[in-house]
Amino acid sequence: MKIGIIRCMQTEDYCPGTTCFRMARENKGGFEGIEEDIEVIGFINCGGCPGKKAVLRARELVKRGADTIVFASCIQRGTPIGYPCPFAKKMKDIISKDLEDKINFIDYTH
Ligand code: SF4
Repeated sequence: MKIGIIRCMQTEDYCPGTTCFRMARENKGGFEGIEEDIEVIGFINCGGCPGKKAVLRARELVKRGADTIVFASCIQRGTPIGYPCPFAKKMKDIISKDLEDKINFIDYTH
């Protein structure tokens, strides 16, 4: 599986994504049950509120080989400060529509 991870720009200042990368490497967290090796194609932020750039960034990840788009846990779970993104559903809907279900989607990394 080749994944492209999109993260919240607001958490970038204090989170280097260490747990996201570890979960992907060890097939844990949001990747539990996936039996194949997971390759991270890219790790990029949403572009900032209200997340309108996320769709362009997802497109770029797919262009570069991702078959699965993953939202880092900061987006839908609000990790690590417990503040989920208020635009998460819209971002996911727009990305799914734009990529016409050609890709898989994983909602969180851990
Ligand atoms: S749109 Fe959501 S994910 Fe992106 S910076 Fe704002 S709160 Fe974070």
